[in-house]
Amino acid sequence: MAEEKNMTKELKEKLFISSKPAVCTVAEDELAEADKFCEAYKEFLDNSPVEREAVEYSLKIAKENGFEEFEADKKYNAGDRIYYINRGKAIALAVIGKNGTKNGVRLSIAHIDSPRVDLKPNPLYEDNNLAYFKTHYYGGIKKYQWTVMPLALHGTVVKLDGTKVDITVGVDENEPCFCITDLLPHLAREQAQKKMAQAIDGENLNVLIGSRPLRTDDEEGELVKLNVMKILNEKYGIVESDFLSAELCLVPAQKTRDVGFDRSLIGGYGHDDKVCAYPALMAAVNTEIPEATCITYLTDKEETGSDGNTGMQSDFLRYFIYDLAKADGEEGYRVLSKSKCLSADVNAAFDPIYASAYEAKNASYINAGVIISKYTGHGGKYDTSDASAEYMGEIRSMLEKNGIIWQVGELGKVDIGGGGTIAKYVANMNVDVVDLGVAVLSMHAPFEIISKLDVYEAYRAFYAFYNNM
Ligand code: MN
Ligand code: MN
Repeated sequence: MAEEKNMTKELKEKLFISSKPAVCTVAEDELAEADKFCEAYKEFLDNSPVEREAVEYSLKIAKENGFEEFEADKKYNAGDRIYYINRGKAIALAVIGKNGTKNGVRLSIAHIDSPRVDLKPNPLYEDNNLAYFKTHYYGGIKKYQWTVMPLALHGTVVKLDGTKVDITVGVDENEPCFCITDLLPHLAREQAQKKMAQAIDGENLNVLIGSRPLRTDDEEGELVKLNVMKILNEKYGIVESDFLSAELCLVPAQKTRDVGFDRSLIGGYGHDDKVCAYPALMAAVNTEIPEATCITYLTDKEETGSDGNTGMQSDFLRYFIYDLAKADGEEGYRVLSKSKCLSADVNAAFDPIYASAYEAKNASYINAGVIISKYTGHGGKYDTSDASAEYMGEIRSMLEKNGIIWQVGELGKVDIGGGGTIAKYVANMNVDVVDLGVAVLSMHAPFEIISKLDVYEAYRAFYAFYNNM
């Protein structure tokens, strides 16, 4: 009897997908490597709340590692490292391969914009002796999550004379922060009856920025607003109309932190998608002389549909690849047609508290390694590129060959909702592409949670894709 049972067990091991949690099978030293890798990731996350800052910080890392600014029409050699910045909001890092662009390029594309609350073009007002900014949220947020928490202001103002002023307030604990208030529970009987999506009105996401009027004997109104504007003028030399030519964003003021007694998790703002951007960036940095030219592209505007000239629907990356192709004497479209891409984006981690939203057999899990998502989209596979069996097979072999811990992941139950990534825009360029990324708990919340092991496995996957596929 016992022997027969063992045979069944053996057969199961041979034929079934392993049900053992990946984290149990990882060597101690790999976990230690993961923890170490994540210390630098936490720095990256804290320095990259909005896309412009993510570009600057990535550029700093790139320059420290020998990347030089791209020059069109220059002939590059194997091992050359170049960066190319799109309007300060997206950055491409290329490592030239032995074969250059001849057999296509390897692309890893992540996005560095995250859901947040932007200021309106005419934001400043005063109401009952309190000063506020009016806002317009950016990306898919649950509005109630962004109230009653410390917010920091990040962004850029362009003055009438063309000079640019960068503004960052609220990151340092000694600086002031800002806050969107909410109604006290005692008076919220009516609000509590509303549907969650309607409980906080978009037009009520106004952020409190001051309460002291300018000291004066004049009988004038709007003195709190005037006082705020005076402070801003003294500090940044701006006037109210300068808000019109500005990109100012409110993001959570809190710093990235370890989560859990075992410190296995990281909580922070903007894991979606910096948790893929950083590993893809480090894969480029640590790649020396690959076979094919490798390009890590950190793009903008994914959270609002990839539109605009800094989003993935723009021709920026296509033109960059055409330029590299031209320098090699190749046709750009032929290079694209032979290229392969990892669309580096997050997926929803299975959350046992909300288990009914997921389909357990095809959900992705915390600590189960990097996720391949064959498709995203919604309903009957709308709005997605569905990676081919052949390409899935290639990526799967690459992960296995390199001993990378990986899993598959669908976003959630088929009929319950959905979401997309940049993969479909890459596919439109006639490039093979599949989504590969990290599982996130509380995705799009001001404090998202990921696993340290998963971040490290993502890095190993991008590195293997460039160097050992
Ligand atoms: Mn994303
Ligand atoms: Mn997102």
